[in-house]
Amino acid sequence: MSKVVLITGASRGIGRAEAEKFAREGYQVIANYHNSKERMEQFAQQMTEQGLSVIPMQADVSDEVQVKRMVEEILSQFGHIDVLICNAGIARQSLFTDFTADQWHNMMAVNLDSVFYCCKEALPSMIRRQKGSIITTSSIWGISGASCEVPYSASKAAVIGLTKALAKEVGPSGIRVNCIAPGVIDTEMNGNLTAEVMEELKEETPLCQIGTPQQVADCAFFLAEEGASFLTGQVISPNGGFLI
Ligand code: NAP
Repeated sequence: MSKVVLITGASRGIGRAEAEKFAREGYQVIANYHNSKERMEQFAQQMTEQGLSVIPMQADVSDEVQVKRMVEEILSQFGHIDVLICNAGIARQSLFTDFTADQWHNMMAVNLDSVFYCCKEALPSMIRRQKGSIITTSSIWGISGASCEVPYSASKAAVIGLTKALAKEVGPSGIRVNCIAPGVIDTEMNGNLTAEVMEELKEETPLCQIGTPQQVADCAFFLAEEGASFLTGQVISPNGGFLI
């Protein structure tokens, strides 16, 4: 039987690359999305045409009820989840003093509460099976902090705290919890950055490149599999040496 992976925010960018990677490696992929229905369905269709299995599943992961419904549906259809990748996220740049409380709460809801909800719903069946791998998604800014991205940095730093604490709690149940903290990756999340800024970021990166979603997906796959069987509570940062 195929292993089952649930990837949140898989309609584009890093999540989509993760969905493709896991599907090509033989996983049954449940690809969560929020708004991008058409794009998600086109991608799933492309995968199906190649004999791979990606099932789109709509849910706003910042909503506890919707996450509960999504996980229940997966468990009733497939019986278990082997790997959970909490990838969905949003970013917003603004002066700290210009952020509204609503924007702050929304950032926390999508980037942090969603991780709490997804882990909480997926864990009971993982604990019953005494196995599972959870991968959360932070950012280099969650490690070092970014000017004009205080709520984002705070939410991503909290994801690291959640990862480390949860890893300690569920390690004795055979479940590993690790975090990916990517550097600058070429996705729509960075679509507002000018070509000039992207060039500068490239120059500041020792490996002289902007990361690709596929490079992050490779890290996620490594963390999910047996090669990482002694890794838990760790933060792996594919960032080309930008932050060391
Ligand atoms: P992206 O291209 O903007 O894609 C974001 C994904 O998250 C989309 O699939 C979107 O779904 C989904 N999403 C947003 N809100 C959601 C919600 N409430 N419920 C369910 N899904 C939701 O972003 P990305 O660059 O691939 O980033 C993916 C993750 O990596 C994020 O957590 C981000 O913070 C992190 N990261 C990115 C970078 C970077 O440079 N790109 C660097 C470090 C960390 P819909 O399209 O369906 O709305």
